[in-house]
Amino acid sequence: MTEAELPEREGMDYDVVVVGAGPAGLATAIRLKQLAEEKGADISVVVVEKGSEAGAHILSGAVIDPIGLDRLLPGWREESDAPLVTQVTDDRFYLLGPAGGVRLPNFAMPPLMNNHGNYIGSLGNVVRWLAQKAEAVGVEIYPGFAASEVLYDENGAVRGVATGDMGVDREGQPKGEFTRGMELRGRYTVFAEGARGHLTKRLIARFGLDAGREPPKFGIGLKELWKVAPEKHQPGLVQHAFGWPLDGKTGGGAFLYHMEDCQVMVGFVVHLNYQNPYLSPFDEFQRFKTHPTFRDTFEGGKRISYGARAITEGGYQSVPRLSFPGGVLVGCAAGFVNVPRIKGSHNAVLSGMLAAEHLFGPLVEGRGYDEVSSYEAAWRASDVGRDLHRVRNVKPLWSRFGTYLGIPLGALDMWTNTLGFSFFGTQKHGKTDAASLKPASEFKPIAYPKPDGVLTFDKLSSVFISNTNHEEDQPVHLKVRDLDLQKRSEHDVFAGPSNRYCPAGVYEWVEEASGPRFQINAQNCVHCKTCDIKDPNQNIDWTAPEGGGGPNYPNM
Ligand SMILES: Cc1cc2nc3c(=O)[nH]c(=O)nc-3n(C[C@H](O)[C@H](O)[C@H](O)COP(=O)(O)OP(=O)(O)OC[C@H]3O[C@@H](n4cnc5c(N)ncnc54)[C@H](O)[C@@H]3O)c2cc1C
Ligand code: SF4
Repeated sequence: MTEAELPEREGMDYDVVVVGAGPAGLATAIRLKQLAEEKGADISVVVVEKGSEAGAHILSGAVIDPIGLDRLLPGWREESDAPLVTQVTDDRFYLLGPAGGVRLPNFAMPPLMNNHGNYIGSLGNVVRWLAQKAEAVGVEIYPGFAASEVLYDENGAVRGVATGDMGVDREGQPKGEFTRGMELRGRYTVFAEGARGHLTKRLIARFGLDAGREPPKFGIGLKELWKVAPEKHQPGLVQHAFGWPLDGKTGGGAFLYHMEDCQVMVGFVVHLNYQNPYLSPFDEFQRFKTHPTFRDTFEGGKRISYGARAITEGGYQSVPRLSFPGGVLVGCAAGFVNVPRIKGSHNAVLSGMLAAEHLFGPLVEGRGYDEVSSYEAAWRASDVGRDLHRVRNVKPLWSRFGTYLGIPLGALDMWTNTLGFSFFGTQKHGKTDAASLKPASEFKPIAYPKPDGVLTFDKLSSVFISNTNHEEDQPVHLKVRDLDLQKRSEHDVFAGPSNRYCPAGVYEWVEEASGPRFQINAQNCVHCKTCDIKDPNQNIDWTAPEGGGGPNYPNM
């Protein structure tokens, strides 16, 4: 059936449509409703979320700086169901070699790296709690609906989004239970899709929002939740490590956060500007857990959950223009992670609030579908801008000089920025992550150890505990633009890196009599967006599968 033959979509009209029920989207919605309540205005706000519930697709560390929650919902700590209860009590940094590690003295760390006053917890649970708060102030939330298309008016301004059709088979034909998507129309649409939002990517291209900005940069973050033996558990302990198992040219590192109930969250981030196509972030993570400094934590414990998600790393110089006719970007859709602190959730909340405060005036004046450029003009002088400005050179220095020189230079720069100056100005990132990959002929394959099933695992058993679920009979949501290019370049030149960078075993080159065939096991996709970022030819587009599909993370 062609688009023209499909029944018309029904629509609903709101003042503001928010895409994504993460911390950024929910903070925007709550703040709009708070302002409406304060000023006696009536503003309707709807939030669409592709996960089966708010929080289902959220994967974070997380050590959370409470500045955002304190501003949005002062008094949250006193509430009986407060989603964060474990404060950081001990903060440690390690540089690892293959056989051992050194603990770096805390006094060498710039003050902004101090985690005192921060909380260890599950961002997914914070989001579940924020969703309840939002509904309590009258926000409508529709989980299980992916926004799959941006709607534009006759002047080219954004006028809302459409959710995807449900009940379409693999060939794109309607099935028995076919339901047409809905149009959610708003005077303003807030894109809060998180890192590498697929609609955000199209908006950036359409409105040229990246003009004059550095390219966006990303890492892939892999995470497991463990229940550890009680004698290994130190609630409040935060550990960060870099060095082994990554080589000095590859950026990244590990985190271990001990939260309540013997739960330890262990994660590993690999910067996606790595060069060696044989590198497998998943296997590096598994190797990390065997390091003598950390393996003891996991021995006698049990792995509960697994997942992966891209994290934005471009920072201050990569943030695109945040406003365009009819809409704005908030949170990690714009890329507000403070890289050395590995924190972005506080800026997600703060940017959502800032956007709401700038949209509110135009809304009560009856405006809509125009550009609220005051938000773009304001963010650099806000707490979000100040937070990112001080650390803007850490990632580019790390990329340029490698781990052993780049990190000390980054630390020096953070110190001097604390005092109000920098020797480095504002460094550029240069290349995109896709362009950083080098041909396989320049490297040797990496022999990763086999998983032992106790401390280290394979991808498929890992995806199993991410509770990932997709309707199987639907169009493949990972769109390869040119299969021939994929074979000629991704396979022949780069030796099929998708098989290694995908943390869920979605991509395989299957050898057949007629030659290698690119197989896409789309039902395993955990929506991390790494393929969309790292494919060397930008030949893979992540699009939204049927709403409700994807991981069902518990407290991740
Ligand atoms: C491994 C890792 C560790 C991290 N550690 C920390 C940490 O310790 N502390 C910290 O503060 N930050 C940390 N971060 C960063 C933090 O998670 C992000 O900054 C934060 O989640 C950004 O919030 P957001 O609302 O912008 O996006 P997200 O949290 O990604 O939320 C976006 C939401 O939008 C939904 N969505 C996306 N597209 C659509 C669509 N088209 N239709 C409907 N719904 C859609 C998604 O399903 C999701 O629920 C970490 C990130 C990673 C990956
Ligand atoms: S297919 Fe892409 S988005 Fe899905 S899990 Fe693999 S790399 Fe991540």
